[in-house]
Order: sequence, then structure tokens, then C-alpha cells
Amino acid sequence: MQYSERHLKQWVILYLSQDGRCALCGGALTDETGSHNHNLVYRMHGGTDALSNRVLLHPHGHQ
Ligand SMILES: [Zn+2]
Repeated sequence: MQYSERHLKQWVILYLSQDGRCALCGGALTDETGSHNHNLVYRMHGGTDALSNRVLLHPHGHQ
């Protein structure tokens, strides 16, 4: 599964660049809290899947 392997690498890069913390609340991202790979600019608004357009958040729920 090439897709999931690439996805995992991107996740690790984001996780390390954010110091293992949620971009929204600053709390630690753990296996228990889970995490959500979030597009800053939604693809429907022209955002891309590039890492610069992504952050990791807890699954806070979407407002
Ligand atoms: Zn959070």
C-alpha cells in the first residue's frame, strides 16, 4: 500500500515539526487522544495535499 506508507511518513514529519502537539490546543498528541491530519485550506477552496497545507490536530470535532 504505497498510499498509506506515504501518509505515515507525512504524519511523522508533521508530528515532529509540531513537537508532538496539537496545532489547535497545544496538548500532546498520543495514541489515546488520536490525531487528525487537517488541511489548512480545504481542497474545495484550492488547498493542496502538500505538507505546508497540513497540520495535525486532535479530533476536536468540526465546527
Ligand atoms: Zn487539540
